[in-house]
Amino acid sequence: METIPASPARRQSPPLIGEALWPRRERTHPVRYHEADIALATPVAIAEGILLVRLPLPFALNHINVYLVDEGDGWTIVDCGLDTPASRESWEAVFAHRSVCDRAVRRIVVTHHHPDHVGLAGWLAGRFGVPMAMTAGELAVAGRYADPKRDVVAERTPFWHEHGLPQALVATLLERMPRYSVQVHALPDHVDLIDTGTPFAMGGRMWKPVVGRGHSPDHLSLVDEAGEIVIGGDQVLPKITPNIGVWPGGDPNPLRSYLESLEAFTALGEDPLLLPSHKQPLHGIAARVDEIRQHHEERLQAVADACERPVTCHELLPVLFGRPLRNEELGFGLGEGVAHLNFLEGEGVLRSDLDNDGRRHFVRA
Ligand SMILES: [Zn+2]
Repeated sequence: METIPASPARRQSPPLIGEALWPRRERTHPVRYHEADIALATPVAIAEGILLVRLPLPFALNHINVYLVDEGDGWTIVDCGLDTPASRESWEAVFAHRSVCDRAVRRIVVTHHHPDHVGLAGWLAGRFGVPMAMTAGELAVAGRYADPKRDVVAERTPFWHEHGLPQALVATLLERMPRYSVQVHALPDHVDLIDTGTPFAMGGRMWKPVVGRGHSPDHLSLVDEAGEIVIGGDQVLPKITPNIGVWPGGDPNPLRSYLESLEAFTALGEDPLLLPSHKQPLHGIAARVDEIRQHHEERLQAVADACERPVTCHELLPVLFGRPLRNEELGFGLGEGVAHLNFLEGEGVLRSDLDNDGRRHFVRA
């Protein structure tokens, strides 16, 4: 481990981590955004036999991209949108659109269990009487979150306390954080499991599953065998980085898992088109991976710098995000903060202890 002098000069010191783990390489293809003009609920022919459909989300991130893959006699839908009236209305407009309406839906594929991706999968599968598929790891979490006998938000309250959230804010989050079953329609009784080790046919091409970790446990991205198209899900996003958070019962070091699983996206074909779940499709995936890694390396360095004295995760959030978080951002923010802290503790840069009140403080090791 590097020793960092406790003086103002430390900011010029070399990074604690990062470059040694993920050395920069020459990238032949820079990030270049696709020029498609994308409007809500209006299918866009984004690649041969693939329509991009943008659905609304009632969040700061106000949309998700889902994909319709042409099977000749119907469509495979990849990801489904949040279960809201606005999403359902958008789907009605899509199914009535001239580029979609002459063929039926044949199958639903879901990249991961997050509500904006899986929310309407059960509704679509039921409506068209078609199979739905996802990876085993994602289905397991979806089932746990949807279990009516549990309240997974309430299960997070000891975690929030441990990481420094004042009691009043714990109570606010517990009350206000939306429950999974409000945002996600009940899944079908049977969901097909995707074998992530075997390519499968979709839209007249073979697609190789690529598993991503850290953002969700068993996230599915698909790369067509010609190396021309990547349906990326949330694993590699333009402009924004996917939330990498620690959740009770989940991966304790998701940032390491995420950064490691990005490696699979650095050598895909001859500069394929990335079809992401949010924002604009792009070329130059490997260069985008470098930007994402650099972003996290900078955040990790800032967090390590801020741990000169013992601090809780809650106290660190303004450092990590560069601004105070709004209440509705706190749950995700804390998870992301703990992900960075656990990464640094795993590298031996930080250590942590619980105080008498059960609050965890992190400090330089
Ligand atoms: Zn997600």
